[in-house]
Amino acid sequence: MSGTSEGPAPATDLDRAAVTDSDFNTSSRTEPQAGPTAYRSAFVAAPLAMAVVDREGLVVSANGSLGALLGCAPEGLVGRLAADLVDLASDARTWHAYQEVLRGRQARLSCTRRLKNPDGQYLWTQVTVAPLGTGEPGVLLSVADVSSQRELQARLRHLQMHDPVTRLPNRTLFFERLSAALEAEAYEQGGTGRIGLCYLDLDGFKAVNDTLGHRVGDRLLAAVAERLTRCADEAGLTRGSTPLVARLGGDEFALLVEDSTGTDQLADLAEAVLKAVQSPFDIAGHRLSVSASIGVVERHAAGTTPTALVQAADTTLYWAKADGKSRWTLFDPERNAHRMTRQALASTLRPAIERGEFTLEYQPLVGMEDGRLRGVEALVRWNHPQFGMLTPNRFIALAEEDGSIVPLGRWVLATACRQARQWQLDHPDEPPIFVSVNVAVRQVWDSDLVADVAEILAETGLAPGLLQLELTESAVMGSAGRPLQALQALSDMGVHIAIDDFGTGYSNLAYLSRLPVAVLKLDGSFVRGFQYEGTGAPPNPADEVVVEAMIQLAHRLGLTVTAECVETSAQASRLRRIGCDTGQGWLYSRPVSPDRISELMAGQAVGKP
Ligand code: C2E
Ligand code: MG
Ligand code: MG
Repeated sequence: MSGTSEGPAPATDLDRAAVTDSDFNTSSRTEPQAGPTAYRSAFVAAPLAMAVVDREGLVVSANGSLGALLGCAPEGLVGRLAADLVDLASDARTWHAYQEVLRGRQARLSCTRRLKNPDGQYLWTQVTVAPLGTGEPGVLLSVADVSSQRELQARLRHLQMHDPVTRLPNRTLFFERLSAALEAEAYEQGGTGRIGLCYLDLDGFKAVNDTLGHRVGDRLLAAVAERLTRCADEAGLTRGSTPLVARLGGDEFALLVEDSTGTDQLADLAEAVLKAVQSPFDIAGHRLSVSASIGVVERHAAGTTPTALVQAADTTLYWAKADGKSRWTLFDPERNAHRMTRQALASTLRPAIERGEFTLEYQPLVGMEDGRLRGVEALVRWNHPQFGMLTPNRFIALAEEDGSIVPLGRWVLATACRQARQWQLDHPDEPPIFVSVNVAVRQVWDSDLVADVAEILAETGLAPGLLQLELTESAVMGSAGRPLQALQALSDMGVHIAIDDFGTGYSNLAYLSRLPVAVLKLDGSFVRGFQYEGTGAPPNPADEVVVEAMIQLAHRLGLTVTAECVETSAQASRLRRIGCDTGQGWLYSRPVSPDRISELMAGQAVGKP
């Protein structure tokens, strides 16, 4: 059959198709049957654009709606290739499926096509091709205008992907764009293969929100968003592609630079953003000043995941804030590695105590006058299975942060007291030596230090007078209530309290003397001030004068003084001259094992008098 020669024949086709459709027959058996003319009129008047197409793909008959859609009389469409009318040949898969439907080998084809209507406007249409009915040759082509649905969908998507306050792309869209940019095809097709991210957080936004309310806060966010967009546009003018500006939540924004050319480009952008945010905002009669902290990451797109990139940017943002806010900071892999080891250490601290990974070394405290061993300071070390022997600087602060200093401190205290008692038992003929144990602030606050000490002394049999506890100035300064009561109770028990690293804080000696403190441990920096011999630097008498006055005052207030970090005999003789009581430092001994202390006890003199 050829539609070109047969003219009105399509009507017959359609009639046949309709009346032979078994569904129609069964469903309307008891109803008066619609005749072929009725179906024909329905076809002609249907609001859905339709055409009957023969096996060769030529239009046999078209209805008015299709004519209207395509901008010509329906009759004018007869004999034309249906595929041309609705653009079915433009992609191979659709074309193949269409052929299969025409040959009766596939049931149906449905696809979306963008068509130009007679007014020159583009429409989105849903094109469906399906057989006319059982055994009938030819197919029914229908074209539905789905533009408004598409528009609605697009609008919904826009709503889902944008932040209503700032109208910027939201977190979802940001991650979508970032993922797309990091997909291999995206950067393999030319481009720089690099990606950059400025991750920023407003400093001072919370204060605005809290004091002036959310409405003002929202308007401020919108104003910030506008400035960020302007920065991105300006960056786009000079560099080609415009960075994507997104609001990631709260007062956090991101600027994503695809195909970045290097850290310089990101630094310029960050600098521009800082400047833009810093000038005041006039909102609702208020002049508002905020600033931004920005974490900047720039790297190869290959091998990076969206999460890794954002995490790096987040860490860097945290550094920018920690370094004093109102600045941008560039991601530093080394600093990050350090942070990772900090995390690794922190997470294994508690189990390490149970696994017995900590040990104590003891550093002699020596009488300045006679060079005799008076006591030792217990210094903790962590024999870490992965990182090796770690000094306390690496983990004490972490242990304080997460509270594991409490069980660790208790272990140190018990071990040191047991050891001190052991030395005493091993050397019954020598005068006993005391042990000095460092105590962290948190141990005074978060544990029952007094009860722990009493229990440990009772258990080990060590006399309270042979235990000294070292606290830092900040731990005892302004101490009132619980810490002061604890210090008093310990002192009443006979335990000596020493102030560690004295002189590094702002302590007032007169105030300290009113606390139950017995010993000052002069910070190493004072002793280092003496170290001008041989360095070529002129002597600095002021240091010596200050230290001498301090020692005299301490003595008058009933305190004894220990100097830390005594490294040279010249330092030692000066300290002796100005009245220092005991010394600690490499001149006498490094921190050593308990056995070595035993040997020193047997030999007695440690330093030259
Ligand atoms: P600190 O209490 O001031 O301990 C003295 C530190 O100075 C020790 O470092 C010691 O090895 C070092 N040192 C001693 N003599 C010299 C010297 O002549 N020259 C120099 N340059 N350094 C010297 P270490 O063992 O690394 O301990 C560091 C800090 O860790 C200690 O400072 C103390 O504050 C803390 N710490 C150590 N053990 C414990 C503990 O069991 N608990 C608590 N809470 N803190 C501890
Ligand atoms: Mg100490
Ligand atoms: Mg110290």
